[in-house]
Amino acid sequence: MAGVTDRVPAIVVLGAGSLDTARRVQQLYGAGQIHGLRGRVEGVEHLYDGFADHLRALYQAETPIIALCAAGIVIRSLASVLGDKDNEPPVLALAEDGSAVVPLLGGLSGVNRMAREIAAHLQVAAAITTSGELRFGTCLLNPPAGYVLDDLEQGKRFVSDLLAGQTLRVEGDAPWLSEARLPTSEQGQRTLHVGWQARPASRDSLSIHSRCVLVAVRSGQDDLPAQVRQALHAAGSTERALGCLLASDSDMADPDLHEAARVLGVALRFAPAASSLEQLIAQSLPEAHLVLSGPLPMAVSHAPLEPERIGRGRGRLAVIGLGPGAAELMVPAVKAELARADDVLGYETYVRMAGPFRDDQVLHCTDNREEMQRARHAFELAAAGRSVVVVSSGDPGVFAMAAAVLEALHESTDPAWQRVELEILPGVSASLATAAWAGAPLGHDFCVMSLSDNLKPWSIIETRLDLAAQADLVLAFYNPISKARPHQLGRALDVVRRHRAADTPVVLGRDVGRPGATLKVVSLGELQPSMVDMRTMVLVGSSTTCVFPRADGGQWVYTPRWYPQRP
Ligand code: SAH
Repeated sequence: MAGVTDRVPAIVVLGAGSLDTARRVQQLYGAGQIHGLRGRVEGVEHLYDGFADHLRALYQAETPIIALCAAGIVIRSLASVLGDKDNEPPVLALAEDGSAVVPLLGGLSGVNRMAREIAAHLQVAAAITTSGELRFGTCLLNPPAGYVLDDLEQGKRFVSDLLAGQTLRVEGDAPWLSEARLPTSEQGQRTLHVGWQARPASRDSLSIHSRCVLVAVRSGQDDLPAQVRQALHAAGSTERALGCLLASDSDMADPDLHEAARVLGVALRFAPAASSLEQLIAQSLPEAHLVLSGPLPMAVSHAPLEPERIGRGRGRLAVIGLGPGAAELMVPAVKAELARADDVLGYETYVRMAGPFRDDQVLHCTDNREEMQRARHAFELAAAGRSVVVVSSGDPGVFAMAAAVLEALHESTDPAWQRVELEILPGVSASLATAAWAGAPLGHDFCVMSLSDNLKPWSIIETRLDLAAQADLVLAFYNPISKARPHQLGRALDVVRRHRAADTPVVLGRDVGRPGATLKVVSLGELQPSMVDMRTMVLVGSSTTCVFPRADGGQWVYTPRWYPQRP
């Protein structure tokens, strides 16, 4: 549950009138995404169709919700899916003009804290109604980041005891409680323990663990999570006090270590190789107290660990495809990657298309031609521990950055580059987006070619065109023409026309998925290079590609699944 409030909230608006308030809240959450009703709101990160269905889907995905509408609408929308209150995301209603913030659901996942944050940001009062919180000025069951409650059920009993008049003694360091109005006394009947040690459950006490323990790990150990737990228990601690795992740089790419960190729900950080794990800890956390009682060395710090300040993380490099341009055609994994990026590299047009970005995200815009240099720069940043995104339009593996990035890695002998977590995330390529708009011209075998001879000799283009046209494949042309190459499309079409009839359908998609998009269907006989520019996708049909009128006045183009038997 601690994870829920870490999630990026969805700021849901119904109309353009609440966009100003939504943007103010978005500033507060940095990565928060605005979700707008399609047709009523434009220029937001996410569009939805039905308000109630969308709210329910967000709630069920445990996404924190800030809905800019009447509280009643939110209540009615979520009523049918309300579940277990121990496991629900924060849900808040926010007045369109920002004048009222009402926490509705998710008391145990920090809704009141969010309400206070938003209220402070908008300079209004939060409508807090939770009794323990009103009385004590804090929710004991929802300690701040870096602390975890040991047992929720015990916690609920504990708070009702305090509400019923019992007094409290706090043992350990709980800085966030100094502002609270708790019924504390030296002789308190109930004890709140704050620290890293495990304690047996009891009616009279409650434990909140400080996540101040670090365990050092290395590759090649069996069942690492079990060993970490064993090390914690041997030292009298608990998994809930674990704040971070630490390993040597040389183990950075080991999947078992990352899996262990995932299973244990903590960050995995790295430090330059040392003679022993103890030494690794001493280098990275010199002020902590070393504990060597279990199978793995560990260190206890005086306060919750801040993993991002310990050693460094494994750098990540994602080569992503934005799709043709429209936000709806961008895959969710790509959106998530853009949200986590520290650095974004790419051709300026595509970087702009991938935005908006937060102030803390660094944009590195370069010329379209500097692919290898950009790929190397991306590895340098990622090898230093940053989360780096290289953007391409369409799909990154189709005449775009993915191959350049892999070539840079293949050429490199730098172990730091090899350890970077590299992932290629696909996108909807221009040929596919154009084909879908036109119908299904790529419904049978097809061939994809770039007509640019910047990186390959023109003779190979002509040979391939000749053979592909002869093989009766549908042809998809990327980079069909440019100012520097004005005559080549004509020459390419001469080759194709040797094998294809003049009535062969040709689809021209320009700026597909972008403002001002156009789609034209012409015959191969009619096709002139002047109808095409570098923002056009050209799909030349095969002998079986058909065209027929559609009800809206346009035309459908498709290539059937079958192929005539040749005698
Ligand atoms: N990686 C990209 C292709 C890059 S090559 C992809 O997968 O789509 C650039 C060529 O792609 C352009 O010259 C044009 O032919 C085509 N193209 C890219 N985006 C397009 C769009 N939105 N509409 C039409 N053609 C596009």
